[in-house]
Amino acid sequence: MDASAYCGRCRTRLEWPDDIADSDEVVCPSCGESAGTFGSLRHDAEQAVLDKINGVIEGRGLK
Ligand SMILES: [Zn+2]
Repeated sequence: MDASAYCGRCRTRLEWPDDIADSDEVVCPSCGESAGTFGSLRHDAEQAVLDKINGVIEGRGLK
């Protein structure tokens, strides 16, 4: 999946291997802050996309 996430402490872009599992923890490469599991990051990213789509639809009155 093509998504990006940023460290909550220092805003460094987080990176992870292509074969990372949902249960694996993603850690900031700069400050070492844990960003939680990849599964939770992916869920947040998907939710953000859905919220954005819903906002566009509502903004155009096309419910
Ligand atoms: Zn960081």
